[in-house]
Amino acid sequence: MGLKNLTKNIYFLPHEPEVDRPMLAYVKGDKFSLAVDAGYSKKHVQDFYRALRSCDLKEPDFTVITHWHYDHTFGLHDISGVSIAHQKTNLFLREQQDRANDKKYIDILKKDDTHFAKEYAGENELNIVIADIEYVEKMTLNLGNITAHIFHTVSPHSEDTTCIYIPEEKVLFLGDSTSEDFFNGGYMDKRKLQHLIERIYSIDCDYCVLSHCEPLKKNELLAYLNTLK
Ligand SMILES: [Zn+2]
Repeated sequence: MGLKNLTKNIYFLPHEPEVDRPMLAYVKGDKFSLAVDAGYSKKHVQDFYRALRSCDLKEPDFTVITHWHYDHTFGLHDISGVSIAHQKTNLFLREQQDRANDKKYIDILKKDDTHFAKEYAGENELNIVIADIEYVEKMTLNLGNITAHIFHTVSPHSEDTTCIYIPEEKVLFLGDSTSEDFFNGGYMDKRKLQHLIERIYSIDCDYCVLSHCEPLKKNELLAYLNTLK
C-alpha cells in the first residue's frame, strides 16, 4: 500500500483494517516535516518510511503521538527524529514498559487481540520507549510556511488525547479521540464526547482525520458524532 495525498503538503499511509494499523500522516514544511503517530511496530514504521522514500519525501524530523495505545506507539523505538507526546502519554507508556518487564506480556497481548497477534507474528519481544519531548496543554511547531498546533483535549477515548491542527491546510488530526474507551469496557462518556464535538466545531478545518478510517470532511464527521449523543 502506498502513500496518499490529502492536501498540498499533507500525505498519509492509509489505515489497514486487517491488522488494525492506524493511518500514519506526514506534514511537509519548507524546513521540517512532521509525522502523526509512530505506528504499531518496527515493521509499520519501515513500511511508512519506504512509502515516504518512494515519493521522494525525507524521514520526519518530528513525530507527534496522538495517544498511548500500542497501535500508535509501539513503533516509537524505530522512528527517525524527535518524538513529542502529552505528559500523560509518557506516563502510560512507562506503565507499559513496567508491564513489558514480564516477558510474557507480548503473549498476553497476542492472546487478547487477534490484530496484535498478526502484527507481531513471529516476534517475542517488545521495545517500548517514551517520547523525547513532553508537553502539557499545547505547543506550536513552525515547520516552515506550515504550522502544527499540538494540543491536549478532553476525549471519550483516552485521557491523554492529543490533536494536531494544520491551519494552512485546514486539516485536523484527531487520532482515535471520537471513539469509546476500549480499556474501560467500551464506555462512551457522552459528556466528554460533547466537549470534543464543541472543540471540533470551533476549529476552522475542512478535513477531520481519524486514525482508523479514511479522512472525513468536517461536516460528515460532526453529523456522525451527533448521532452518538
Ligand atoms: Zn486508541
